[in-house]
Parts: sequence; C-alpha cells; structure tokens
Amino acid sequence: MKAVSDRRRKRDAVYPARRQQVWERGNGMCEWCGMAAMTDVHHIAGRAGPDPHRLENLVGLDAECHRRVHAEPEWARSVGLMRSRHAKLA
Ligand SMILES: [Zn+2]
Repeated sequence: MKAVSDRRRKRDAVYPARRQQVWERGNGMCEWCGMAAMTDVHHIAGRAGPDPHRLENLVGLDAECHRRVHAEPEWARSVGLMRSRHAKLA
C-alpha cells in the first residue's frame, strides 16, 4: 500500500508544472475553441498509467468545453479529446 501511494505522490508531483506548461502552450486560452480563457486541464486518456500528466495527454480547456467533453464522449473521442489509454495513436 505504501509503495503505491509513494509512486502516486511522485507521479503527481509533476502535475503543477505540467499544468503551467499547458497554460503557456495555449497562451492561457482554451486549446480547443480558442475563444475563452483556459480554466481546466483535461486528461485525454485519463489519469491512470505510469505518466498520466505527460503533456501529450493534457489539453487545456475552458469550463464549457471541458463540460462538453464529458457530456458528449462520443464526440470527444471523434475529435481526439478523449481516448482509451490502451488505444494506439493513429
Ligand atoms: Zn473552449
């Protein structure tokens, strides 16, 4: 149990810096619509796995786009905002 929590703590320690990098990548704007300020960081393939906070798994969204991703998962998958972490990249 302790080993798992240590691993998770180490894994999550990078997250604040990665969030900052995502914000800079998007110039503080939603990376999907570009029309509103980035407020959320979404994990495209979820938070499981060895390195869920890798930059290519993160997309900065505004609250409305983030809501839509989770409300319309079929749409989100079709546009690449959501995928299984086991899926191969096209
Ligand atoms: Zn947006």
